[in-house]
Amino acid sequence: MPTVNTREDALALDQRDPLAKFRDAFVYPEGLIYFDGNSLGMLPKATPERVRQVVEDEWGQGLIRSWVAADWIGAPERLGAKVARLIGADSDEVIVTDTLSLNIFKALAACVQINNTRSILLSETGNFPTDVYMMEGLATLSERHITPKLVAPEDIEAHLTEDVCALLLTQTHYKFGSVRDMKALTEKAHAKGILVIWDLAHSAGAVPVNVHDVKADFALGCGYKYLNGGPGAPSFLYVARRHQNESRPVLPGWLGHAAPFAFSDQYEPASGMRRYVCSSPSLLHMAALEVGLDLLLEADDQERRAKSQALTSLFLELVQTRCGEFGFEPACPLDRDARGSQVSFRHEEGYAIVQALIARGVIGDFRDPNIMRFGFAPLYNTFTEVWDAVDILHDIMTTRSWDKPEFKHRGKVT
Ligand SMILES: *Cc1c(COP(=O)(O)O)cnc(C)c1O
Repeated sequence: MPTVNTREDALALDQRDPLAKFRDAFVYPEGLIYFDGNSLGMLPKATPERVRQVVEDEWGQGLIRSWVAADWIGAPERLGAKVARLIGADSDEVIVTDTLSLNIFKALAACVQINNTRSILLSETGNFPTDVYMMEGLATLSERHITPKLVAPEDIEAHLTEDVCALLLTQTHYKFGSVRDMKALTEKAHAKGILVIWDLAHSAGAVPVNVHDVKADFALGCGYKYLNGGPGAPSFLYVARRHQNESRPVLPGWLGHAAPFAFSDQYEPASGMRRYVCSSPSLLHMAALEVGLDLLLEADDQERRAKSQALTSLFLELVQTRCGEFGFEPACPLDRDARGSQVSFRHEEGYAIVQALIARGVIGDFRDPNIMRFGFAPLYNTFTEVWDAVDILHDIMTTRSWDKPEFKHRGKVT
């Protein structure tokens, strides 16, 4: 990447950016620099109109007829086919339904059934908590003494043993932005007969993924982060075709039945991904998510990754060169290929500094105990924003404007 020594250099990078046109497809609040698309993606401009259509036309006018006329019934598969293009799956291997935590539970339960002589569910310490809580929740139900086991991230390989049923890992770490080598780990796990579930919450839409290439068994991810589906958007679930009919859902909802409108007393799972649907899809939210997905699919995968790497590299470099004396210690990998679309720093006063940045219109977030986290979305973030954000950070540090009581008060959401 060319060196950036001035704001003009950053502007020049924006002018050459092949993805520049996408920024205008989002609602971008005046004067804001938003580096938190890894937590909640921005609102596409087309979303309100699409949601209005679903509310006023499909619901208001079409009413019950819209289940078929507007293909409400097919929404989990239709959106799933779009996600499939993002993660290298076949169109009938992904559905969009429920929240991520629920899909993690479903995938774990399926592994317990498929790998039915083994009892350990393996993951790493420091994983996103919901993933681990779901393992513990499942263990309370089972008579097979299912045992969740957490080991340090660097010890995972040593614990891939023949009593492990499933390995659940997040590809891009939510706090440190480090990216796991999906292919190598999946291969090692498979060699020991272990099923692998990949959580792609911080990868899908930001880091190119090919679930077929890495031979993933299950994968899942979030709709409201880089997919820009809005707060609480439904999530996606991928099950490799070879496993789809191998387990019986533990959350067997009526819409996952082979013949839901037979209203039978007996549950009989639909074949394929449909059996992983429990309930009526949340259609207002599916509509919002579909707009986000369509937008993402217009952009080239490799171009997204290249820009994301260039943005994170520039931010790291500028913080180092311009704010070097203030003690920001990178907590994410310095090698761009080992890094997702985020930059994290350790700093003792990280919480107050993030609050001071937010007060100045630069939105990042904070994760305990001392991690400042900045997510970069290649569809809407710019190189000039990176320059301006570091300018503001420099100012906050030199003036010590972070050092105020109001920036040290912890809110309900950090
Ligand atoms: C964001 C995130 C979740 C969130 O799950 P929800 O149930 O959709 O709130 C789960 N796992 C990981 C790794 C995440 O980053």
